[in-house]
Amino acid sequence: MNILIAGAGIGGLTAALSLHAAGCEDVCVVEAAPEIRPLGAGINLLPNAVRELAALGLYEELLRRSVPLERLGYFNHHGQTVWSERRGHGAGHHWPQLAVFRGSLQELLAARVAERLGPDAVRTDARLTGFTVADSGRVRVDLGHRSRGGTASTVETDVLVGADGIRSAVRGTLYPQEGSPRSQGVVVWRGVTRSRPFMGGRSMVVMGDGRWKVVVYPLADLPDASGDVPVNWAASYTGDLDVRPAEVRDRFLPRFADWRCEDLVVRDVLGGAEPAQEFPMMDRDPLPRWSFGPVTLLGDAAHAMAPMGSNATTQAVVDARALAHAVSLHADPVHALREYDRERRPAMNRLQLMNRAKGPEVVIDLACARAPEGFTGTGTGDADDVLPHRELAAIAHAYATAAGTDPDSSNFPSPYGSPEGPAHPVRAGAAR
Ligand SMILES: Cc1cc2nc3c(=O)[nH]c(=O)nc-3n(C[C@H](O)[C@H](O)[C@H](O)COP(=O)(O)OP(=O)(O)OC[C@H]3O[C@@H](n4cnc5c(N)ncnc54)[C@H](O)[C@@H]3O)c2cc1C
Repeated sequence: MNILIAGAGIGGLTAALSLHAAGCEDVCVVEAAPEIRPLGAGINLLPNAVRELAALGLYEELLRRSVPLERLGYFNHHGQTVWSERRGHGAGHHWPQLAVFRGSLQELLAARVAERLGPDAVRTDARLTGFTVADSGRVRVDLGHRSRGGTASTVETDVLVGADGIRSAVRGTLYPQEGSPRSQGVVVWRGVTRSRPFMGGRSMVVMGDGRWKVVVYPLADLPDASGDVPVNWAASYTGDLDVRPAEVRDRFLPRFADWRCEDLVVRDVLGGAEPAQEFPMMDRDPLPRWSFGPVTLLGDAAHAMAPMGSNATTQAVVDARALAHAVSLHADPVHALREYDRERRPAMNRLQLMNRAKGPEVVIDLACARAPEGFTGTGTGDADDVLPHRELAAIAHAYATAAGTDPDSSNFPSPYGSPEGPAHPVRAGAAR
């Protein structure tokens, strides 16, 4: 059986490695970009995704490229704690939560695909433009090759996996009426700045006032010679910007002028030298079906979700492992794809809707609505008067359970088999 994956992002490359590990010899990835370049800023891998990448034998390399986060804090714009929780081992997880450059993770996966599946397993400059399923059940896939003068070609495959991101052409062929991704009415600015480590060096901070929000976390554990680490940040605004200065940074930086949180000075991070990118926040509606005969969807192509709770990359990795496991269990690929859909889609549908409603970050909006001037009742940082601890704990728990990232869901061995992974995780903090 041969399998063609459209898209060499994190989901597509993990699917290639997982299918190979599950015994599929003939797996090929077609990628629209002319080459795999380390693009993007930071992403997070939650414990269930780290466990699955460990099962592929990638744990040690992942640790070398990432930061195991130990704390996640939600704050109001006065810097007062709304909710704070430990992450990783301190929270009872066997596997850490890792913050990493997206490009670094993609490079690692692409290198292992070349090593294990062969140097031709990923074909770049090959954009899927459409497909048809013949009466024989084989899939005819149309490809466009931009750098070869826009020429076209066709390949045949037994199984097609659409891992081609939020603007998936595979999804567009399955759901031609759907149109563009859905705007959330939020403008996002993103960047990476070299800056001093903050809050012990392994913390993620989410701060907001109900409209303006900033998310900050480190992308390296050890400072460089000048004492700095790369810090990932994303600032956002909910609503239409009535004034749009020409310089991108001027559109958001003044709003964060006096935002501080312990030793984190938000303005210093957001005002760094590297250019900021601006884009609208988008997601997709949940789908009634991902698998159609020998064709299925994976990752953002299947369930692009608003970026709350660090789940986009995590769930793409879990999809990839679940798909490969289903293919290894069922000789009939159509049956396997149906089982994969049945296992993964209901949970992802729920998570997409939770993220649209702001997921775990909703605690900041609750705090701002109930205490717009900040918490004054029982001292700085104590939100319990207006936001009872049990209410906040229930929000965090419900979200982690839905995502399968709580210790009860993620502490057991991979349910998708563990051909190469370590029997026990190495403690991520040990090398520090
Ligand atoms: C360039 C880039 C930068 C990103 N940066 C960040 C970031 O900084 N932070 C963050 O949280 N998330 C980022 N993301 C999104 C994040 O990677 C995903 O949400 C998550 O990892 C799920 O991955 P995925 O494999 O499903 O989709 P993606 O990571 O989007 O990968 C999809 C892949 O499919 C390819 N592709 C698209 N259309 C076709 C086609 N028709 N034929 C063949 N190939 C196609 C794309 O070039 C891409 O390589 C970025 C995505 C991309 C593509």
